Amino acid sequence: MQIAFAASECTPFAKTGGLADVVGALPRELVKLGHELSVYLPFYARIRKQFEDEPKVLIRSLTIPFQSYSRFVGVLDGGLLDGVQYYFIDCPELFDRKELYGPSGGEYADNAERFGLFCRAVIEASKQIGVPQIFHVHDWQAALIPVYLRNTYAADPALSGAATVLTIHNAAYQGTFPPRTTEDLLFPWEIFTMEKVEQYDRFNFLKGGVVFSDLLTTVSRKYAEEIQTADFGEHLEGILHKRAKDLRGILNGVDYTQWNPATDGNLAAHYSPENLDGKAACRADLLHAFGLENVAETTPVIGIVSRFATQKGFDIVAQITEQIATRDVVVVALGTHDPYYENLFREWAFRYPDKVAVQIRYDEVLAHKIEAGADMFLMPSRYEPSGLNQMYSLKYGTVPIVRATGGLDDTIEEWDEKKGTGTGFKFAGYGAKDLLAEIDRALEAFNDKTGWRRLMLNCMAQDYSWAEPAKEYVRLYEEAAQRRA
Ligand code: ADP
Repeated sequence: MQIAFAASECTPFAKTGGLADVVGALPRELVKLGHELSVYLPFYARIRKQFEDEPKVLIRSLTIPFQSYSRFVGVLDGGLLDGVQYYFIDCPELFDRKELYGPSGGEYADNAERFGLFCRAVIEASKQIGVPQIFHVHDWQAALIPVYLRNTYAADPALSGAATVLTIHNAAYQGTFPPRTTEDLLFPWEIFTMEKVEQYDRFNFLKGGVVFSDLLTTVSRKYAEEIQTADFGEHLEGILHKRAKDLRGILNGVDYTQWNPATDGNLAAHYSPENLDGKAACRADLLHAFGLENVAETTPVIGIVSRFATQKGFDIVAQITEQIATRDVVVVALGTHDPYYENLFREWAFRYPDKVAVQIRYDEVLAHKIEAGADMFLMPSRYEPSGLNQMYSLKYGTVPIVRATGGLDDTIEEWDEKKGTGTGFKFAGYGAKDLLAEIDRALEAFNDKTGWRRLMLNCMAQDYSWAEPAKEYVRLYEEAAQRRA
């Protein structure tokens, strides 16, 4: 099949979170299954910088009309990587900026225009380059593609055969804008209703995608159920429940070419289930990178790599920082985003310089070092659509401590020391006490060397590669294409 991905992030070009990992890895896996894949991305400043020579111009100018003006957009050839063809939508006025979405976790004021234009430009570009059988669109930034196709372009014979699949990577980010966005983006006012794109008197990109896509997916089975409830649906639960039979949960996979302690180029040493020796060198290297010296071998290291956002559960960590610091444990954290949580970690590290260390930035190499060098990995998320870091941790024998939600619940099985089964520590209630009790359980288990080794090997034996999820996506594309036919 011919499948076109449209998204705002994709490794190795532009990444702020898990979305980029998925849009980077899944197309390559689909190519292996014999499909023809293209990926459309906005041409951000950080992508431009990756090219010594400007990428070749494929289409010099597409006209993208708005209510009182037009913009003229180029389409660039991003090249073929592992069989996947990349296209960049070039509109320097909107995309040639330092950040993807806005300064320090905020939003650019013209994001409706930026991603509205991106969606329309992908459709227009495809009419010249080749209309795919499937548009697979990701998150709110690409969610207007189905809305345009079923409204603005409904009578276009070139596009009538194209089916659409929307993947929701996080239902909390919806892209909501003032009502006038409807006419700014040249939609008829008829679509600004509760049944279509309107939500609490806002124009809601994600809702539009949910309503107008042929099929919907999200990134774990559990999260597909959760988002149909008021606790997780972020006010879209009604519309999502209405489409329940078209909504599937497909767990994200891991790109083991990037995340494997036996081959990872970012590490001080390599290791594998057959020979775990290298992990000690990785641990020493990690502690050194965080300026923590003289940590006893018997003291476990808890690692954190995260967007510092409320979703990730750091409000309950905040309530027990003192208690954690009294335990025989060391915490290393890497993250950025919300200044509130950045300060929380800074203060924690300031108060306990021998036990807690934090680096406030985005750093791919350090993220790999933490996965390899830590003994445990903490993800106490309030909600977690899929979560990738716990799956990376499994491969690195770094035992996850997680809250039982979304993909964390789907991927981590509670450790049972009597039977020697399980892959981590998992608590259900969203409370500081539950979290602390689970951390204590993990610290106790760490003292039993033989049991801990069994647990590490259980973790490392898990296989969350993309092979199976990719096949599930293909079945879904076939279903979407049949419906459209
Ligand atoms: P989310 O997409 O909600 O942020 P995921 O667990 O799905 O969470 O994916 C997060 C991805 O981003 C992982 O690949 C993780 O390693 C990476 N990541 C998050 N924060 C940082 C950071 N500060 N430095 C490097 N990588 C990070």
